[in-house]
Amino acid sequence: MVSKSRYLGRLAPSPTGLLHLGHARTFWVAAQRARAAHGTLLLRNDDLDAVRFRLDFVDAMIEDLRWLGLTWQEPMVVQSTRRSLYRTALEKLHAAGLIFPCARSRRDVLDAASAPHESAAPADVHDEPVYPAQFRPPPDEPLPSLGDKISVNWRFRVPLGETVAFTDGRAGPQSAVAGRDFGDFLVWRRDDTPSYQLACAVDDAEMGITEVVRGDDLIRSTFRQILILRALGAEPPAYYHCPLMLDEHGTRLAKRHDALSLRTLREQGRTAEEVIRKFNSEAIKP
Ligand code: GLU
Repeated sequence: MVSKSRYLGRLAPSPTGLLHLGHARTFWVAAQRARAAHGTLLLRNDDLDAVRFRLDFVDAMIEDLRWLGLTWQEPMVVQSTRRSLYRTALEKLHAAGLIFPCARSRRDVLDAASAPHESAAPADVHDEPVYPAQFRPPPDEPLPSLGDKISVNWRFRVPLGETVAFTDGRAGPQSAVAGRDFGDFLVWRRDDTPSYQLACAVDDAEMGITEVVRGDDLIRSTFRQILILRALGAEPPAYYHCPLMLDEHGTRLAKRHDALSLRTLREQGRTAEEVIRKFNSEAIKP
């Protein structure tokens, strides 16, 4: 009997647009790594962004991933159905005094925030300005209760001055100083939705993910997720951050690059094999 493999990876697209070549390359790398480790993948639908979410993008991403030849273990994990898990984690952080409510507007934070410390890492789509320490409530101030329906932002109180470090499977040793490179970050929003950082950390732990493969624009998020995992008493997975794919102008691919969406390429008659071959070229032209 073949022994059961321990490697469990995940593909975690957000259904906020069509998948493009950059996503495809990252997911393809994830599949290669799972295969090399005789492991499996789960598909996680990161559908917590109620504003940008579209149901037709969920169908499209599944179809595009299948077309690319990727396989995963069913059932798909759907973040919007897992609220109670995130809420339980939030309550744990609250009980530990590791979060605080923040009534400051985005504008207040932006105006008072220092620019994030220069770092080799590319900008993270989930990045936030470094939260000004003077906005924090004193650590001994009693926390208000969370309440059933949350209508204020809750932030994670980062350990100021502490270096958070991990060794990336591709990019090598990474470190960031809490309070300098990133500040107190959102864990729950005032529209009563968990933040990406919280949901992702909780899911990676709960799903038993052993290695996270994703774009290196998310390296900065990793430091935050490591802090959440530590606070929840969970072991962080291994991380493998892939370089982002650039277009011919050296700009990173985004969902607005319709010409490079898998859908468009397929409609133009490109095959999945051709697309996979492109992953090795430096600049990808439509
Ligand atoms: N769905 C997230 C995003 O597109 C990525 C999540 C992850 O791989 O951690 O930004």
